[in-house]
Amino acid sequence: MISKARKVADYKQLTKELPTLRYVDPERVYINLQSDRCQTYTLDVKENDRVQLGQIIGERDGGFFKQPIYATVSGTVEGTTKKTHPSGIEVECVIIRNDYKDEYHSTITDRPENVIENMTKAEMVDVIRQTATVGLGGSGFPSYIKLDTDKKIHTVVINAVECEPYLSSDYRLIKDSPEEIFRGLKYIMQAVDAKKGVIAVKKTKTELIEVLERELTRFENLNIEIAKLADYYPQGWENETFKNALGIKIPPGTLPMEYGVLGFNVSTTSAIYEALKHNLPITKRHLTVNGDAINFPQNIRVRVGTCVKDLIKLSDGYSEDAKDIDFVIGGPMMVTSLDTDDVIVTPTTTSVLVFKSQDFHEEPCVRCGSCVYSCPVEIQPVNIMNAIKRNDKKALENLEVNKCIECGLCAYVCTSKIHLTDYMRKGKKLLG
Ligand code: SF4
Ligand code: SF4
Repeated sequence: MISKARKVADYKQLTKELPTLRYVDPERVYINLQSDRCQTYTLDVKENDRVQLGQIIGERDGGFFKQPIYATVSGTVEGTTKKTHPSGIEVECVIIRNDYKDEYHSTITDRPENVIENMTKAEMVDVIRQTATVGLGGSGFPSYIKLDTDKKIHTVVINAVECEPYLSSDYRLIKDSPEEIFRGLKYIMQAVDAKKGVIAVKKTKTELIEVLERELTRFENLNIEIAKLADYYPQGWENETFKNALGIKIPPGTLPMEYGVLGFNVSTTSAIYEALKHNLPITKRHLTVNGDAINFPQNIRVRVGTCVKDLIKLSDGYSEDAKDIDFVIGGPMMVTSLDTDDVIVTPTTTSVLVFKSQDFHEEPCVRCGSCVYSCPVEIQPVNIMNAIKRNDKKALENLEVNKCIECGLCAYVCTSKIHLTDYMRKGKKLLG
């Protein structure tokens, strides 16, 4: 979790101006067989088997969905090992030694545009399911379930707001590959028969708006708009984006599809493009490596399964004065920190943030009310914390802890440096 005491300064600016480094050749990748959503799995390969890039090597079981597991390099299976998942849990991983040949599996083939244009919704949903495409903004929710809605969808929103500090990988992805984003949006609109598409971006990102508006001229036959939104946190929270881009207020806890709207983040849109255009599962992703404890912050396009240790080396290592280090894998406002770099990159890893450790001692609550005033879903973090301390489930229900979107603002503003977001997570768990 980021603290306001840490100097965010120009880190975001710094990485977004640099070209994206393509790092496609780690010696080994570690493909997670389990995740925070999927505990059980089947593995279809064994030690010394040769695998190709994009080959199915097993299947994760998430209870209400199953998810193929893909090789993200071509090479040889070396066995299995435990690694840390970005969520902080230890997961079983299959190790593949890269042969640097990038031999694609025969299922990875291009689909001409006229073939895609004639695909039915069911066919498109099936490709998205088969390629294990999930929400890459961090949710990891299977995209095929979202696309398979039976609700009437009038608008698809691509969320390019990227409002968390330090992160700029979506910015770079749009700058580097705007056509992919527009085509991805076009395919999603076709799949759900939406008449309108909106790309939501902060109005302060003028360069990005120029790129989007230029690209828009090539898609003038589609009803696509660029929505330019104010620059504040949490503008990128889906409901906030919908409210400001479409004028539709969706109550927390209600699915946007109930209001005829579907939202996808930039990386997910790119993955949907890759899946439908090339039948390609998520084998690579853009992420930001940033923070005050590494020498060279940058955006990198990496193989899924790359070890964070390798990315640190690639970023010129740790800065000399960094003694104890905190790793934040994902958005700094929303996740807790880890104390190891033996973490794997998964499809949902938006960033690797590396900070010099700072000691924050929690003080007793001074009842300043800052957490209550800042909460975007209008709940009362301080009272929820007190209810948790009393183990009062009835009060937790009445205080609507489940509305919390874990944006991290209450902890950020807390005068007493209390880890309020952790309390919110605990509260939700208590209610089950
Ligand atoms: S993390 Fe805190 S500020 Fe954000 S929604 Fe939850 S309670 Fe509100
Ligand atoms: S911001 Fe912190 S100190 Fe202020 S009321 Fe909330 S919990 Fe208490």
